[in-house]
Amino acid sequence: MNYHNGTKCVQAGWEPKNGEPRVLPIYQSTTFKYDSSEAMGKLFDLEEAGYFYTRLQNPTNDAVAAKIAALEGGVAAILTSSGQAATFYSIMNICKAGDHVVSSSAIYGGSFNLISHTMADMGIRCTFVDPDCDETELEAAFLPETRCVFGETIANPAMSVLDIEKFAKAAHSHGVPLIIDNTFATPVNCRPFEWGADIVIHSTTKYMDGHATSVGGAIVDSGNFDWQAHSERFPGLTTPDETYHGSIFTELFGKAAYIGKVTTTLMRDLGSVPSPHNSFLLNLGLETLHLRMQRHCANAKAAAEFLQAHPKVSWVKYCDLPEDSNFRKAQKYLPNGSCGVLAFGVAGGRQAAIQFMDSLKLAAVVTHVADIRTCVLHPASTTHRQMQDEELMAAGVSPDLIRLSVGIEDIEDIIADLSQALATV
Ligand SMILES: *Cc1c(COP(=O)(O)O)cnc(C)c1O
Repeated sequence: MNYHNGTKCVQAGWEPKNGEPRVLPIYQSTTFKYDSSEAMGKLFDLEEAGYFYTRLQNPTNDAVAAKIAALEGGVAAILTSSGQAATFYSIMNICKAGDHVVSSSAIYGGSFNLISHTMADMGIRCTFVDPDCDETELEAAFLPETRCVFGETIANPAMSVLDIEKFAKAAHSHGVPLIIDNTFATPVNCRPFEWGADIVIHSTTKYMDGHATSVGGAIVDSGNFDWQAHSERFPGLTTPDETYHGSIFTELFGKAAYIGKVTTTLMRDLGSVPSPHNSFLLNLGLETLHLRMQRHCANAKAAAEFLQAHPKVSWVKYCDLPEDSNFRKAQKYLPNGSCGVLAFGVAGGRQAAIQFMDSLKLAAVVTHVADIRTCVLHPASTTHRQMQDEELMAAGVSPDLIRLSVGIEDIEDIIADLSQALATV
């Protein structure tokens, strides 16, 4: 059924049959019973579809994955135990030692560490490019061994907007897919497949769960990338897999080959599976995602406008402000709003920022972002505190930078809190 995304948030995924529970049940079971060994053998050989062990597939997890696939407009999806696992699997599914990745340099710190250190140790190299580079520069980043391109719709914490079409065009001209981390925008505000992305990943820990209860991730496949047409680059998908008696994933799973491979090889071997209970909580979050995103965006815009006009604030970065350098891209890719996260600087630098943070009453100081409760983080005194001011600047984190994640409380109270804390500086 071709419903709009709000309806999908509420109803997609779990489709109860006659007499079944209206609400998605938690199948908190590691294992599933069959009447004969023969029936179970067929599942192991991928001859028949069915559940046998939760590390590979679980009905609760699958229903929530199906909802996320529907929201993104993809053909298949899989949940992972964290956003980090989703990022890792999404690349690992099509790269091996000797291969190469082109990535935007404006990405989440955890993704940067994963790609530039851990995956490098595994023999997968990466070239990082400035997301605003011109097409010639982007072209120059590709090697014969390049197997995918990676970027974030709205970069955490740089808050820049990716030109998805530009990156998709470059990826496709080199016969490789574009993987987009759509965590901050969510499919409510941007569906990267509509702009040419092939794979979308999420840290569901953020807005999708929304209530800060469960760490999780998701990988979604558009079904659009033609692996067969670029067979020489993706033999893992297009040539026989020895561990499944020579099955070929593109033949076995058709358009869902990429997710089929994640499930049957990476999940089987590495096992970053979410608990069904966490997936149930994630589904509760998804049921109100469309409502919460509207409120997050409206509140963040009002907070950004308040901060921008405040004499003690030296700068504000939020792409929905017409003055922001990303405003035009935001209008194109995020016409209904971006997200609830913004960054700003307090006049007076590091000391003033700390003073401001310590004076907040409603906004909590936490190492989290993108949930219903307003929170703040000062990287220079927490996550990046080992760095000197010069090193911070090089990392794009100025000593006065405060990341504000605006929640869904009443905006009058949020602004009153920011105002009284700024008054103490
Ligand atoms: C938090 C985050 C991740 C990592 O997700 P976890 O669920 O914390 O493992 C990846 N990408 C982005 C954009 C994030 O904000």
